[in-house]
Amino acid sequence: MSGAVDVAIVGAGPYGLSLAAHLSAARISHAEFGIPMNLWRTAMPEGMFLKSQGFASNLSSPDGQHTLAAFCAAKGRPYRSYGLPVPLDTFVAYGLWFQQELVPALQQTLVTEIVQKDDHYVLSLADGGQVQAARVVVAAGVEHFARMPELLADLPAAVCSHSSAHPDLRAFAGQRVVVLGRGQSALESAALLHESGADVTVVTRKPSLAWNGQPLPPDRPLLQRLAEPEAGLGSGWGTWFYSDHPGLFRRLPASTRVQRAATALGPAGAYWLRERVERQFPVLLSHTLTGAQADWAGVRLRFDGPGGAAELAADHVIAATGYRSDLSRLSFISDLLRPGVRTLAGSPVVDRHYQSSVPGLYFIGPAVAPAFGPVMRFVFGADHAARTVTRALAAGPRQSAAGVR
Ligand SMILES: Cc1cc2nc3c(=O)[nH]c(=O)nc-3n(C[C@H](O)[C@H](O)[C@H](O)COP(=O)(O)OP(=O)(O)OC[C@H]3O[C@@H](n4cnc5c(N)ncnc54)[C@H](O)[C@@H]3O)c2cc1C
Repeated sequence: MSGAVDVAIVGAGPYGLSLAAHLSAARISHAEFGIPMNLWRTAMPEGMFLKSQGFASNLSSPDGQHTLAAFCAAKGRPYRSYGLPVPLDTFVAYGLWFQQELVPALQQTLVTEIVQKDDHYVLSLADGGQVQAARVVVAAGVEHFARMPELLADLPAAVCSHSSAHPDLRAFAGQRVVVLGRGQSALESAALLHESGADVTVVTRKPSLAWNGQPLPPDRPLLQRLAEPEAGLGSGWGTWFYSDHPGLFRRLPASTRVQRAATALGPAGAYWLRERVERQFPVLLSHTLTGAQADWAGVRLRFDGPGGAAELAADHVIAATGYRSDLSRLSFISDLLRPGVRTLAGSPVVDRHYQSSVPGLYFIGPAVAPAFGPVMRFVFGADHAARTVTRALAAGPRQSAAGVR
């Protein structure tokens, strides 16, 4: 056994790093495992910009000082809270700076198994170590949840991949690439492919693309601000509720929560991306994938479209089809432990402290969007999760999971 701590955090993305910073300030003994900002460093394309505004892209620090604005000021990088898209490389550098400043003891290794023994957990690590912890917080993000359409699942990786497989889309220069999807990831990947010299076609089942509007000026007249408030996830009262009241969201009926978590703030392109997509390359609307086959020249895709059956030949198809939370895909949670975690639509059911039905086992981040709402799918939700879980853990040893419905 390499050591024993009160709390082990699995994951070092925005949620895990924020929580570790808060636990340090609260002097709660803990250890954190994971590769810092791994999703952002390996599963997003170079040249990407964040969709969230600057002010909504902060990791949560207890002193409120380790913001993206403070990082950019210290490093001489351009920053505005509204209206200036944040480049991916700036956000990654910010996350790594946050980690070095506030979470220097992060152990950059993966957790391969979590088992429960008596009143504690034992975590096995990829580097061969083992750690004992009274409580465990899983902050493993979405990388285990990439969603691939069934019809593409058996194609070889040479001709078909998920959008998360491409940190550098320039590798496709000169190739015919079909991108499936209509969210920010699909549209931005397509724009980057086009700008890198690929022959790109976007295909979506839906009859139109959706675009987010420009951010509203913060100094607009009071009446306009009351009619349409601006919040972390965007503008409007519904969005304000999702952004600022995850605790109230948890009180909605389960079926409403599942539906809103999956559909609210659904697929749409950022306003600044629009001119890089429209009239730049073909976008086939109302086309449903019906079949796919690899052949000597790449891949043949069949669709049902408005004009009947259609076929597209390409060198590669990229499924920008997002992520779907599914506890069974977190293979590091042992087979003996997992059945004890109650789920709703594949996600762990958690109480108001983010504790699952297994006492001492917590989940934060996108995995618990059906509990705390769409804000969990964004960096902005890290503040609520980190503060709430820190308060619960500071309250003392294991509690039974009250209110896990
Ligand atoms: C293309 C794309 C663009 C996005 N753009 C935005 C945006 O502009 N704004 C926004 O707010 N959100 C955006 N998101 C959503 C983003 O994923 C979340 O906001 C955020 O990353 C969630 O943070 P997290 O800490 O929960 O997870 P992640 O950032 O996914 O981090 C997960 C961490 O868990 C670790 N981990 C996984 N398995 C293990 C294991 N077995 N052992 C140890 N560690 C493990 C990883 O190494 C990593 O450190 C985007 C997502 C994608 C895919």
